[in-house]
Amino acid sequence: MSDMRLIVAGAAGRMGCAVIELIAKTPGVSLAAALEGPKSPALGQDAGIYAGAGGLGIAISSDPLTAALDADGIIDFSTPHASIELAALAAQARIVHVIGTTGLSAGDREKIAAAANHAAIVQSGNMSLGINLLASLVEKVAQALGPEFDIEIVEMHHRMKVDAPSGTALLLGEAAARGRAVSLAEQSVRSRDGHTGARAEGAIGFATLRGGTVVGDHSVIFAGPGERLELTHKAEDRTIFARGALRAALWARGRKPGLYAMADVLGVK
Ligand code: NAP
Repeated sequence: MSDMRLIVAGAAGRMGCAVIELIAKTPGVSLAAALEGPKSPALGQDAGIYAGAGGLGIAISSDPLTAALDADGIIDFSTPHASIELAALAAQARIVHVIGTTGLSAGDREKIAAAANHAAIVQSGNMSLGINLLASLVEKVAQALGPEFDIEIVEMHHRMKVDAPSGTALLLGEAAARGRAVSLAEQSVRSRDGHTGARAEGAIGFATLRGGTVVGDHSVIFAGPGERLELTHKAEDRTIFARGALRAALWARGRKPGLYAMADVLGVK
């Protein structure tokens, strides 16, 4: 089979650079285009040099339509606004779309689901193998322990992160809610401040820490009467997300349209 030609969206961002570096050294894939927003200072620069992967002869552009004419898929770690536009483009062009962008609203998710009627879309708040395994463990533990064990999810990320709680924390919250057969939207407590009163039974709490260069730490704490179980994942390096995203793109190639999760790609559902 010919190389899978991939567009990287958010090409000058931290994740975009990690994906471009990985594409440059992975056989069977090549960079078709590198996209940024229209105001990006990186426009026109060689995407490979920008990412520290050496010259690739692809200039960073803000023209997704032209990019989609000659590509098999998009790997996208950009912004919610850009991701929903790219999902519509993937649907039109019938190409794979791997969405790593977090901070998506319910409305954004609906638009992505509609686009997935026409394109194979893999969307996940966390592309790493470890986190997806952790989510399946959290679901099992939540189911086994029952509501006398309070569930709290603690996350820490670098100081530049703009959304909270992290997409991964929400993904873990969803797993806990599934285990308990409740709705996360009804049970989640996103912040606490002042005189909050006692903790409501069955609540799923979130706590957010921001600072330094932390790539991503997540703990799910099950606090019961007299004992506590803590499940933790620590991402040491962004390449785990880039590797997962590339694996997702290759997995989705030739697959029928639909909205897939990383658990489908990794076979841990
Ligand atoms: P970042 O460094 O801010 O990168 C985002 C990039 O997208 C920026 O360069 C931004 O450009 C660019 N962008 C803005 N509008 C665009 C458009 N219309 N088209 C194309 N690109 C556009 O952030 P990051 O750390 O790489 O993370 C990116 C996203 O991925 C975040 O939502 C983050 O939470 C998420 N993430 C997900 C995973 C996962 O496994 N799912 C892992 C890590 C990060 P400007 O700076 O010029 O606006």
